[in-house]
Amino acid sequence: MSNKLSIPRGCSDIVFPEIYQWQTVENLMREILHVYNYQEIRTPIFEETELFARSMGQSSDVVMKQMLNLAAQPAEKNAELKLSGLSLRPENTASVVRSYILQNLDKLEGLSKLYYIGPMFRGERPQKGRLRQFHQVGVEAIGPFADSPYLDAEVIALSVDILKTLGLKNFTIKLNSLGSAEDKENFSNWLRRELKDRILELDEEDQSRFERNVFRVLDSKNKKTRAVIDSLAIESSALGAESRIYFDKVQKALKDMNIDFELDSKLVRGLDYYTHTVFEITSTSLGSQDALGAGGRYNNLVNQLGGPNVGAVGFALGIERILLALPQDQEVLSIHPDIYVIALDEKSFSRAWVITNILRQHSISCDICYNIASVKSLMRQANKSKAERVIIIGENELDRGVITIKNFQDGSQQEISIKNDNYTQLLELTTERL
Ligand code: AMP
Repeated sequence: MSNKLSIPRGCSDIVFPEIYQWQTVENLMREILHVYNYQEIRTPIFEETELFARSMGQSSDVVMKQMLNLAAQPAEKNAELKLSGLSLRPENTASVVRSYILQNLDKLEGLSKLYYIGPMFRGERPQKGRLRQFHQVGVEAIGPFADSPYLDAEVIALSVDILKTLGLKNFTIKLNSLGSAEDKENFSNWLRRELKDRILELDEEDQSRFERNVFRVLDSKNKKTRAVIDSLAIESSALGAESRIYFDKVQKALKDMNIDFELDSKLVRGLDYYTHTVFEITSTSLGSQDALGAGGRYNNLVNQLGGPNVGAVGFALGIERILLALPQDQEVLSIHPDIYVIALDEKSFSRAWVITNILRQHSISCDICYNIASVKSLMRQANKSKAERVIIIGENELDRGVITIKNFQDGSQQEISIKNDNYTQLLELTTERL
């Protein structure tokens, strides 16, 4: 290993001042999720690889190409530490469903409406908007009564609400229905028949997708493949009567909330578990990686992973993509101390230290300058801290039992008494909002 430090490719540090934008965004998201009555769930960031293969589909691109697997440790080093067979989570639906089953959440009355905010990991070729560690906010509504078209509409409305509240404007919702498992099977057979004689017109990778799971051909971004797909008359796919009624209800519920969407019969989503409603949200403010998020219904997954026969619907939005798509002129909140304390000499520092501690004990945000320097230099540091007020203590103040407090906003300055360790006046003044 060279001495030069580096950050793993496709990862980023989120530091000041950007972190405040993240915190603001996350707080707003939590507020909206609370309005819709979703509860937070936190699952491990790694799971058994098998879980992802079983849920997302062994032949999905994510499982085949993008899983970041933990390396096996030589047994003699630590026999207990069996890391092989574990993968960093590429998404969170599988983990939430695993948790729903293991925590017996189905024994609770009614629906489990769960949300998460956290990092996901995919071994991608990094580019703008495509990282190896990225963050998602997502929801999963699972359980008895989850089979309602209104719930499909609710999760779509919730994702729209989140994006709008954060200040996003240019986004589009694409909507489709894959129907029941049986409808999916019919549609897949129809697609196979349509594409069978044109297989050589597809891009090479899509030819193998045709073999593995024909739906994934529809997800292709390759130009040659897209030309073939565009020529297919998919319009009414193969929805059965019941699925058609269900999908009509989802659309009606969305219209009742004035949510605009575009029907896209070629939208299938690349994972095996989707049934019925699927949707994707794209933004024109993003480049080639234009998907802000996606979701849909997965009625068979809980049962397929060994849980009860209950329906489920959810979505995941990419937080980095949301931040990229936000208008750049948005004000970024930043946090700074209310008070900055400076001591002009060693002797005054211990008094300044006591005062800082007293203010903190009274929940007043403050910081102290740890070096002793010229007044000019200290005031420069106080200014840089963006505090609203600065407390100045020097020998002169110490001798007279006072401190100087300067208000940066209006430039006013006053002396207040701290004689006999009586800090009443100081606390009165500093708790008063500017
Ligand atoms: P997906 O599960 O692939 O549909 O991802 C849902 C959302 O997560 C996408 O629409 C993106 O906003 C975001 N996302 C997925 N993969 C990445 C990635 N590699 N880097 C950044 N964001 C991503």
